[in-house]
Amino acid sequence: MTKNTTNETLLKELSEIDRLHHIHPSTNPKFHRDNGPKLVFKEGKGIYLYDLKGEEYIDGVSMLWNVNLGHGNKELAEAAYEQMSSIAYASAFYGYANESTARLAKKVASLTPGDLNTVFFTSGGSESNDTAFKLSRFYWELKGYKNKKKIISLRRGYHGVTVAAQRATGIEVYRNFSGSLDPNIVNAKPHLTECEQGDKNHPEYEGSIHSIIEKEGAENIAAVIMEPIQGAGGVHIPPEGYLEAVRKLCSENNIHLILDEVICGFGRTGKMFGADNWNIVPDLITFAKGITSGYSQLGGVAMTDEIGNTIAQYDGMLPHGFTYSGHPTACAVGLKNIEILERDNLVQHAVEMGEVLRQGFEYLEGKYSFFTKGRNVGLLGGFDLMRSPEENIPFEESVKAAVTLVDECFQRNLLIRPFDFEPGMNIVAVAPPLIIEKDEVEKIIAIIDDSLKALSNKI
Ligand code: PMP
Repeated sequence: MTKNTTNETLLKELSEIDRLHHIHPSTNPKFHRDNGPKLVFKEGKGIYLYDLKGEEYIDGVSMLWNVNLGHGNKELAEAAYEQMSSIAYASAFYGYANESTARLAKKVASLTPGDLNTVFFTSGGSESNDTAFKLSRFYWELKGYKNKKKIISLRRGYHGVTVAAQRATGIEVYRNFSGSLDPNIVNAKPHLTECEQGDKNHPEYEGSIHSIIEKEGAENIAAVIMEPIQGAGGVHIPPEGYLEAVRKLCSENNIHLILDEVICGFGRTGKMFGADNWNIVPDLITFAKGITSGYSQLGGVAMTDEIGNTIAQYDGMLPHGFTYSGHPTACAVGLKNIEILERDNLVQHAVEMGEVLRQGFEYLEGKYSFFTKGRNVGLLGGFDLMRSPEENIPFEESVKAAVTLVDECFQRNLLIRPFDFEPGMNIVAVAPPLIIEKDEVEKIIAIIDDSLKALSNKI
């Protein structure tokens, strides 16, 4: 049998198994059960992925904005192998420590802004956000503030799908799924700088964080959580002064600021953390994805000395933790991932490649009247598609502009991601691995260019 025949047979077999036995996340289950998987990945190298049909795809969003070092990195694989060969798993419960987990905690502490010097590990982003809410509330409890329980999050924010993280997520379709509720989480309107600075006459004031604090009472609020740049909500960069205003508002009201750095953290925006773009220091940072470039499941919460030292004075058992909190293999991969990020100057490289991406967006904006709001910070980028940007007229829903464009890109072997969860919203995200080179960014732009041309014939 030739190699191709083998692959075809394997593709058929795996597609059928997957179709019948696997419910996929963020996927249409009926479509999947009726049609099977969209593709079956076989291997990856750098910014490229290969499927069982032998197609080569450019991974234009680093899969789920996480494969920052690109695919097929042998150094990360070897770090996992070495750790697994020595001690594959060691619990962090009951005060048990191991080298990789301890060293990674110190490394993360050295990279986070300000005095966020203490880390609690989890296995991913949602767990990290749930943990941050608990630790924030626990801190206030230890300080004698028994009622500081509420969490304020932003509409369009994405914080994950565990019960509390789901409720903090401000995208309705996720937030309301399956009726899972945490009544202590309130969604605020996003990115209203003047309101957060205290302008009560602003037409949008009602529903701002400032107004919610006023209504609910700071004595009932533990924390505000937000992404430095909203990712899954459609790559929204906050307006000038916004994060600084929120930082000030939280400080003045004795409320923690939690920055969800699950996407931004570890170099994605051309700084080690998203917060570094605005020189603000949150009270807690949640991280995941980029810490291992997706090679192993790891997340965590970094907290200030004030929070860390207060919790460290609690003289009882801390009743929180995951079996895989600080998994040694994940931590060994995390350490190697950060070592490579630093050794190869990849955070600075993200700034340079981000500039190439920005120029590409500018070029497309000049060429297509419906391409608009091209934006990026480092290699976290996105753009909007609108019927008429000048008149602020969106595409009719039937056009499915973002989905159609992303499909055109898929047919040209580029994987990028559409967002259209609100009426009139047609946003596309572009966030390739940080190791991408100039000619590869240009290749992505060229494919989007061709796909926009195809789209213009359909609209
Ligand atoms: N926060 C942000 C900003 C995210 O983008 C995500 C995942 N896309 C999460 C939290 C949840 O992370 P996880 O899927 O690892 O639970």
